[in-house]
Amino acid sequence: MLKGARINMNKIPVGILGATGMVGQRFITLLKDHPWFEVVCVAASPRSAGKSYSQAVAEKWVMQEAIPDAVSKLTVLAVQEDAKKIASQVKFVFSALDLEKEQIKEIENNFASLGIPVVSNNSAHRFTKDVPMIIPEINSQHLALIEIQKRNHGWKDGFIVVKPNCSIQSFVPQISALMGFSPVKIEVTTFQAVSGAGKTLESWPEMKDNVIPFIGGEEEKTEKEPLKIWGEIKNGKIELAKNPTISATCIRVPVSNGHLASVAVSFENKPTRDQILKAWGNFNPLKGLNLPFAPNSFITVFDEENRPQTGLDRNLGKGMGISVGRLRDDAVFDYKFVGLSHNTIRGAAGGAILMAELLKMKGYI
Ligand code: NAP
Repeated sequence: MLKGARINMNKIPVGILGATGMVGQRFITLLKDHPWFEVVCVAASPRSAGKSYSQAVAEKWVMQEAIPDAVSKLTVLAVQEDAKKIASQVKFVFSALDLEKEQIKEIENNFASLGIPVVSNNSAHRFTKDVPMIIPEINSQHLALIEIQKRNHGWKDGFIVVKPNCSIQSFVPQISALMGFSPVKIEVTTFQAVSGAGKTLESWPEMKDNVIPFIGGEEEKTEKEPLKIWGEIKNGKIELAKNPTISATCIRVPVSNGHLASVAVSFENKPTRDQILKAWGNFNPLKGLNLPFAPNSFITVFDEENRPQTGLDRNLGKGMGISVGRLRDDAVFDYKFVGLSHNTIRGAAGGAILMAELLKMKGYI
């Protein structure tokens, strides 16, 4: 599709790399009617390239919403072979690719070198020293790395920013609100939905009436990524936070969407229960910026003993709200609580869209 054929010239034209996958589909549905961004280009593997988007996803569309009309007719391009063509059509891309990490790094670097900012869901660049890993409400100050990154590579307009693993949005926001009390130790167990593996309950029959106590690579990510989010820029890179120490167990459970976390935490300066509840209720750093995907309430606190529940509460704030409940004393740690976030909205595509909105607002896009 040529630039001139765009439907709405007031919106920023955007492409989606990995548009046919589960996270890619989520981008397509969430960006329908977005006030600032318009999907004008969809790209995937050579298996899908050349087909119309609706043909390419005919056997694998898993969203409840229908494919938006304007996107269904787009011809799918090949992420690697058509990179220059994609770059000529868009102002930035979302990356939702799933292939070898080295290949993903190569692809994302190539788009940045072609002058295209890349907002990525993939883990490939999460620990690249000059790539910021952002949860917009928590560490937007790390966007300052973008200028360093551009200088390091000699990129003029392109750059790469990434979002963290889906599991950590279920507990890192709640802990971030309590940073003033210096948390020192966290034990977290996550109960993660099948969509986190790019699957549905229908396409993963082994998950019926079953719980799988292992998710490859997930515990390492859950223990390490928060330390980059809470880190500081020093000498042109993020120095990881030294505290808190995190011990994680990640478990796959038979739910479609939503990652629940059971968290125990100890502090250097133990807060009172009221201080914790107040800190959670007040923690909304993007309030007033009017970013379309920012939820009105970042953290919703439940008093009821049986909330948050995955099925009832994952869609708070259109899937962008985080929730928390069951705050209680613990015999080993100071406190324990239960957190929840929607893994493919806040934890993947929605979180990336919010980051792109922040980038636009701050003039990076
Ligand atoms: P997926 O459903 O398997 O989709 C993968 C996408 O990558 C498809 O569009 C596929 O295109 C494309 N692709 C595969 N091989 C390719 C190649 N050689 N060249 C170009 N494109 C290729 O995966 P997903 O669940 O959407 O996850 C995408 C990424 O987001 C992963 O890195 C995942 O770790 C991350 N993530 C997922 C979640 C979640 O909750 N699902 C949350 C956070 C982050 P074809 O259809 O043409 O094969």
